[in-house]
Amino acid sequence: MHDTLSHFNTLVQELIEDEVVNPVAQHLPSDELFDTLDLDLSEDGVDNQTFRALFKDLVFRTTRTATKGFFNQLFGGRNEKAVLGDLMATVLNNSMYTYKAAGPMIGVEKVIVEKLCNYVGWDRESGGTIATGGSLANFMGLLMARDSAGTKIQTQGVRAKMTVYTSAESHYSVSKNASFSGIGRENVRKIKADDLGRMRVDLLEEAIKEDVENGFTPVLVNATAGTTVLGAFDPIDAISKICKQHDVWLHVDGAYCGSVLLSKTHKHLINGIEHVDSFSFNAHKMLNVPLTCSILLVKNASHLHQSFSNEAEYLYQTDHDEFNLGKTSLQCGKRNDALKFWTLWKQVGTNGLEKQVDKQFELADTAFRYVSNNPDYTVYSFKNSISICFNYKSIPARQLCTLLYEHSTLLVGYGSFRDEEFIRLVTMNPQHNTDDILNFFRTLEAFVEEHASLFEASV
Ligand SMILES: *Cc1c(COP(=O)(O)O)cnc(C)c1O
Repeated sequence: MHDTLSHFNTLVQELIEDEVVNPVAQHLPSDELFDTLDLDLSEDGVDNQTFRALFKDLVFRTTRTATKGFFNQLFGGRNEKAVLGDLMATVLNNSMYTYKAAGPMIGVEKVIVEKLCNYVGWDRESGGTIATGGSLANFMGLLMARDSAGTKIQTQGVRAKMTVYTSAESHYSVSKNASFSGIGRENVRKIKADDLGRMRVDLLEEAIKEDVENGFTPVLVNATAGTTVLGAFDPIDAISKICKQHDVWLHVDGAYCGSVLLSKTHKHLINGIEHVDSFSFNAHKMLNVPLTCSILLVKNASHLHQSFSNEAEYLYQTDHDEFNLGKTSLQCGKRNDALKFWTLWKQVGTNGLEKQVDKQFELADTAFRYVSNNPDYTVYSFKNSISICFNYKSIPARQLCTLLYEHSTLLVGYGSFRDEEFIRLVTMNPQHNTDDILNFFRTLEAFVEEHASLFEASV
């Protein structure tokens, strides 16, 4: 282990130094991948020296997500306090399904869940789990909703005609999950969004009423806290009233921005969160924990047991169910995704997490003001969002993003809303500062100027 650790330390050191000089890894087209890197596996292993050389190649050519060049997705940065926990989870290699197999690590996950439930404003009936991702956390929310609606699917299979409601701007996992759960993609009602990208509550209520008249059982309303493209927040408080009236489970998909829960300044964006049935968010997005760390919280924890518990004598041999997390989980073997969140939270406190979230909004404000005050930019996003959506001159977003990628200049993506396509800059990395954000724009502008011939049709 000693050699491996020192190899690891050296390699990480080299990578971090290189990242400063080369924030974007040299572009490697997928059709050249296997010719460029030795990824092949063979009967015999390779010697140490060969391995180290090709492993370094692989690491150095891999997309860099912790640098000043990465704005592509809803994660980014490298928080060393959280990385420590993740590395140790790998070294310890526990499975979180039982107390016997994970010991005090169970307490680590339980403390995180309990604390978060307190911040939501829930009492001791509440609970939760760490799922394998935001999509899967949404799936668990949907399954609890389905099972609690008296559809008897768990024992008898699908018989009822069920419906799910979500905004047209919500994440694609909602439809996918409807297909897994026996509800069916066609029974997902995509409710139109208003001009700011938020679900229209009037249309939601109309849709529920119409479905009930037509003999459907509405099982779930999925509200989004931070839509994937615009970062819009559905009006949870108003939606919760409709759900109560019609007795429908309300899940909030906060994968992207649900972490505003921990910010006194921005928590108002999820006003009414205490009235929902389940709430999920990705600590690997706004909270900067390494992938994946997806939290699912439930107002009444008994639903977790009702939907996910199964007897298994060969597994659950000791301790109370409360400490055997496999009983409230979709999977059997369960990675310790809690420790990295805990090592971060323990060291910086809730105040530190709050600062991270607030910082992201400050960086977003810098970016928003930059594009708003510059006539070369057209702005498509709105206040209270860390997704800054814009176009530069009249260059098609997808062309500019692709060229920036192919020239190893910047990683940023594009999205669309109401037939307009635009670049989406996400100020997700709290290690960035104002200058890094301004530098993004300077780099983009310099790139367009330098490669003017590529953009002739548009500039
Ligand atoms: C990222 C995201 C998801 C999916 O989370 P994964 O962890 O990538 O599965 C779901 N919903 C929203 C709104 C997201 O932004």
